[in-house]
Amino acid sequence: SLVLGIETSCDETGIGIVRGSTLLANVISSSMEEHARYGGVVPEVAARAHLEAIEPAIRAALAEAGVTLADLDAIAVTSGPGLAGALMVGVGAAKALALALDRPLYAVNHLVGHVGADVLRDDGTALELPTVALLVSGGHTSLLLVRDLTSDVELLGETIDDAAGEAFDKVARLLGLPYPGGPHIDRVAAEGDPAAIRFPRGLTLPKDLERHRYDFSFSGLKTAVARHVERLRDAGQEVPVADVAASFREAVADVLTAKAVAACQDLGVPRLLLGGGVVANARVRALAEERAAAAGVSLRIPPLALCTDNGAMIAALGAQLIAAGHAPSALDVSADSTLPVTHIQA
Ligand code: ATP
Ligand code: MG
Ligand code: FE
Repeated sequence: SLVLGIETSCDETGIGIVRGSTLLANVISSSMEEHARYGGVVPEVAARAHLEAIEPAIRAALAEAGVTLADLDAIAVTSGPGLAGALMVGVGAAKALALALDRPLYAVNHLVGHVGADVLRDDGTALELPTVALLVSGGHTSLLLVRDLTSDVELLGETIDDAAGEAFDKVARLLGLPYPGGPHIDRVAAEGDPAAIRFPRGLTLPKDLERHRYDFSFSGLKTAVARHVERLRDAGQEVPVADVAASFREAVADVLTAKAVAACQDLGVPRLLLGGGVVANARVRALAEERAAAAGVSLRIPPLALCTDNGAMIAALGAQLIAAGHAPSALDVSADSTLPVTHIQA
């Protein structure tokens, strides 16, 4: 079926159109630059930007796909989790379209959407299930067990404080690098020594592993980097930015990949899917490849354009729900900023 997907959970206004698992259009308008001077996404600014961007993005996606509104079979939208005001813009638009066009509405979970993105890859290989999925972005660090994309997703663990992308952004700011910090840290780290400073690996001590085997924590790491930099500055010494960036990046990549591969091994699930903007990180990818190979785990990384927030993944999840025979969502469905990942559809 021909599905239009709307994604407005954070700073990307994403409109995607798919036919089944074939990608027809993926239009993304980001308000990232407007958040740069605040060093993080400002909810009110994001919501207003969605309001301005959504209609032109829908028109652009229809043009890109070469279809009209009347051709659409269904509307899919992210109803959570995410920023409440931002989500409301997308959900409101989706309801209006569904009502005006008299088409079914599928309100879906953003995180499961990241997994759904995988069905759009064009190499002809299908997503094998069950799979462990590690989703890492500015707002999320979650480890999932996906048994069935449309009916059975379990949360294994998540960050208990900052998201990994958020840590990249905060450490970049500390080092005087621009926002969003992830790509800049990645670039600078390539020139540094990852073993220069041994930064803490959150929730990896034996006592933490008992309760938080698959959970993450990055605020202690961020504080350790801040202290390290402060100490050097107070002593009038120059901060070795490349070494700090490389050592920080190594700590993040180490914890993310170790826990994800451990989950695969513990659960006897030899498949790992990565998603979210932090997957762009060169070290995260390399270490994931290395450790997955060593553990006999097959690693899937969707194309980067489908890893960051987009509407196509939401349309794809909607199409999968339709194909699996799920009933549409109610037209009075509302945005839920804390929608749990077990709620694939709202
Ligand atoms: P959500 O959390 O709702 O998915 P988001 O906008 O934070 O929203 P993305 O757009 O997928 O999610 O990811 C953006 C994040 O990814 C930012 O924190 C950014 O710093 C980080 N990032 C991007 N490229 C890299 C990289 N090369 N290395 C590390 N982090 C990166
Ligand atoms: Mg973003
Ligand atoms: Fe996301």
